[in-house]
Parts: sequence; structure tokens; C-alpha cells
Amino acid sequence: MTHNAAASGVAAAIADIRARIAAAAREVGRDPAAVRLVAVSKTHPAAAVEAALAAGQACFGENRVQEAAAKFPGLRPRHPALRLHLIGPLQTNKAAEAVGLADVIETLDRDRLADALDRAAQREGRLPALLVQVNIGDEPQKAGVSSTAADAFIATCRRRFGAAVTGLMAIPPAGRDPTPFFRRLAGLAATHGLAELSMGMSGDFEQAVAAGATSVRVGSAIFGDRPPASAATLGAVPLAPSAS
Ligand SMILES: *Cc1c(COP(=O)(O)O)cnc(C)c1O
Repeated sequence: MTHNAAASGVAAAIADIRARIAAAAREVGRDPAAVRLVAVSKTHPAAAVEAALAAGQACFGENRVQEAAAKFPGLRPRHPALRLHLIGPLQTNKAAEAVGLADVIETLDRDRLADALDRAAQREGRLPALLVQVNIGDEPQKAGVSSTAADAFIATCRRRFGAAVTGLMAIPPAGRDPTPFFRRLAGLAATHGLAELSMGMSGDFEQAVAAGATSVRVGSAIFGDRPPASAATLGAVPLAPSAS
């Protein structure tokens, strides 16, 4: 594909996803404008991000700090509306860089990470918006606070970070009907009076919108397939937890 063909492909895919989000929202009487599209650009080059920006997409998701650091700071000066969400498991030794880079960190899931983000925020003099990631299917290999520990952890994070904690994020178990898990996350957010719900990906964002998502994270349906996923690319706990 030529660069232009790739770029128009991205623009067309974004228009299609936006239309499907709007239809799914209207179907349940929600305002389509209440659902943010986060374009997940992980593994795709900065040129793909530029194509999406040219199509009016401002909000992006990356799951590795290093990759985000390589792609995004160079784009910011020309695209002041750009917003970067970090959506991957975050090691404590990357917390400072994450705080410097991101507008939203969606994967706050343990006390040691909260400590590291707190220290980093003091040092950097800025604090991104924070979402608590919940392991909503309680899968052993997946990141996120367990559903049983979620209430206490959310309360602790809110005491500590105040209004910077804006909501919850989850990735439901693969291969099962995601709707009950989306509903459970929505119920948890409502219990805590949290407005933001980041849930839904390429395969299930319409169901997530129906269940109340305020943010959907869509990658392959916009940018095309990625190289085969390693365990760490989809919310799995990093294999070497020694650094966290
Ligand atoms: C990669 C990723 C996505 C996007 O997945 P697609 O199926 O490509 O849309 C969403 N959320 C998280 C946490 C991811 O790591």
C-alpha cells in the first residue's frame, strides 16, 4: 500500500468506528458525544498516528512507555489537542516517565504503583488523570486489581489522588460474552461515583457502549492487524515482575 492509501484507510476506518459508536449509543438512548474513541496505535509507526490525526482523531492509546516516548512527544507541538492514554501494565520503574508523558494512565492497579506515581507526580509537578484497572474476570494472568480487592483499592486511590482518579478500566475475559463483565465494571464505577468507564476494544466496543462505556480502546479495527501478540501486549502481567 502507498502511504496515501494507508492514510485514507485509517481515515475511513475511523469514520466507520465513529459511526458504529454513535449507532450503538443511540440504540440505548445515550449521547454519542459521551463516548470517547481512543485509537490504540501500539506497534504502528508515528506515520499511522499522523494519518489518524489528519482525520481528526486526537486521542491515542499505547501500552508501552518506551514506544509512547518514541512516538508522541515529537507530535505534540504540531497537535496541541493530542491526548495520550497509557493502557498497558505499568512497571513502577517506568512511573516517572509515564507521568511525564501521559494525559491519562488507565492501569493503576496496586499500592506499589500508586506509591511510585505519587512520588513521580511530586517530582514532575504534574499528575495525569488516573483510571483504576480492575481484573473484572479475576483471571490469574491478567493485570488489574482483583474484583474482591477493588472497593478498598479504589477508595484508597481516591483518598490519595482525589479528583485525578476519574474512573475504571477493564479487559473482560477473551472468548466469553463480555456484557456481564462490562455491566459489573459499570456497577462498580457507579458505587464509587466515578464517571469514566474505559471498556471495549475492536471486537466488542459496541457492547461496551451499550453497557455505558465513556471510552473505547480500538486498535486493529483502525490501524490493521498487529504482529502476533506476546503475552504482555494485552493486559497480561509482565513475565518478569522483578522490576515492578
Ligand atoms: C491492544 C489493546 C487494545 C486494542 O485492542 P484491539 O483488539 O486491537 O482493538 C485495547 N486495550 C488494551 C489494554 C490493549 O492492550
